[in-house]
Amino acid sequence: MSALIDFMGDWISVGYLLSAVLFIMGLKKLGHPRTAPQGNQLGALGMLVAVVVTVASMQLEGNAQWTLIIAGMAIGSLIGYWMAVRVEMTGMPEMVALFNGFGGAASALVALSETMKYLEAGANIPTGLELTVTMVAAGLSALVGWMTLTGSLLAMYKLKGGVEIFGKWIKTPTWGPTWLNPVKILLLISVAVLIVKSISEPTNQDYLWAIIAISCLLGIILVLPIGGADMPVVVSLLNSLSGIAAAFTGFIFSNSVLIVAGSLVGASGIILTFIMCKAMNRRLIDVLFKSFGGSGEKVDLTRTKVGSDADEVAMMIDGAQKVIIIPGYGMAVSQCQHQVKEFADLISEKYDTEVKYAIHPVAGRMPGHMNVLLAEANVPYEQLIEMDEINQEFPDCDVAVVIGANDTTNPAARSGEGPLAGMPIIDVDAARTVVIIKRSLSVGYAGVDNDLFYMDKTMMLFGDGKKMMTALNNSIKEN
Ligand code: NDP
Repeated sequence: MSALIDFMGDWISVGYLLSAVLFIMGLKKLGHPRTAPQGNQLGALGMLVAVVVTVASMQLEGNAQWTLIIAGMAIGSLIGYWMAVRVEMTGMPEMVALFNGFGGAASALVALSETMKYLEAGANIPTGLELTVTMVAAGLSALVGWMTLTGSLLAMYKLKGGVEIFGKWIKTPTWGPTWLNPVKILLLISVAVLIVKSISEPTNQDYLWAIIAISCLLGIILVLPIGGADMPVVVSLLNSLSGIAAAFTGFIFSNSVLIVAGSLVGASGIILTFIMCKAMNRRLIDVLFKSFGGSGEKVDLTRTKVGSDADEVAMMIDGAQKVIIIPGYGMAVSQCQHQVKEFADLISEKYDTEVKYAIHPVAGRMPGHMNVLLAEANVPYEQLIEMDEINQEFPDCDVAVVIGANDTTNPAARSGEGPLAGMPIIDVDAARTVVIIKRSLSVGYAGVDNDLFYMDKTMMLFGDGKKMMTALNNSIKEN
């Protein structure tokens, strides 16, 4: 019997290794839009292998509670399927934030249940290094996991633009006086002290509950002051934290696949966080402690601009040799990516116009938002050009067509002041003519008025993105 258990134990290790390899291969493929769907499938397969192997090892150890396992998997799968089918493309960023939070909470709950068992074991609890590792891992898992849950829930509401029932202070994303910074540090130090205390008194559960309470508070006060242009950084940081929480939980019961998968999510999330910081021209420490994200409050717009119509824009585009399309969040809202592709095809066929797309790293409401939408409309990847590269081409661009983008084109970012200060933008104002499609002159996510709208070379095409793109395409066909 013991030989059989040893043999099965070896296969379980092989299974975990296989799932770790699948995760790594999946991550590699996620690096390019063309291979990303395959990467996603490999990651899901890796997770399936991990679940099957974990359940098999529980069965081998004689503690598989099949009713609970099957009920949990069925309910979880149903909720996941329902959410994935129901979610609108515009709701994806909030769903990603929510899943980050659930990831952190799941790890923290598993850690909590494991340490509860441990604490309830009374006199039988181990001592020495094993005790230290367990209590440190449990404390850190609680800190990161609960902080990720409350921080992500708040980030979700901020991405939604706030929810009235929570009152004005939640609706206003950036409430965070500077005296909160020492409070954050003090709270982190108290968690460290509580972890040390829990090692010397492992059967006292109060320490763990205190860590959980402080961590929930920390998640809220860390995210509360962040808003505007800094939100992409915080969303990717929370993503990374959800992985780190899973890795800490893996240490509690020596589960190698949890440590590997958690570390992969943590490491890739932190890389994405630094990419986002670079894109925003920020340092992570400044995002977390300086809170220059912007109020998100609507500013009073005093200037006006006469709008153009589709026929006028179509006539101006006739004969353009080079057109650059700049998509933004409004394209996601109006779901006009197919009409945008049709526009690009029309003008390149009819006028032999060269068409490219300028992709700002934080356009939309989640990393890669524009790439996902344009890929759905079968826009060739070669036409999607990153900001640094495309910016050199604007002086030669006849017409820049901005579709629902605002902050990512706002010259106010160059001023060094306000919520967008220092953020690199798409240099749309260097093009010969600019066409902007949006419903009004109103502000974008960071709440800053945009001088680009009022320039002489700018034509505003006011209306919903899909409606206006359809009208423009019809005018070009009739032209
Ligand atoms: P913005 O949020 O700056 O602006 C979007 C514009 O789209 C609005 O001004 C709005 O104007 C217009 N719009 C909305 N609905 C429609 C519609 N149906 N048809 C046409 N236009 C519409 O978008 P950007 O993409 O330029 O910038 C992204 C912002 O979001 C940045 O500030 C970024 O920091 C932030 N952010 C990004 C995240 C990411 O990971 N990418 C995450 C969190 C925040 P109007 O109402 O007049 O139509």
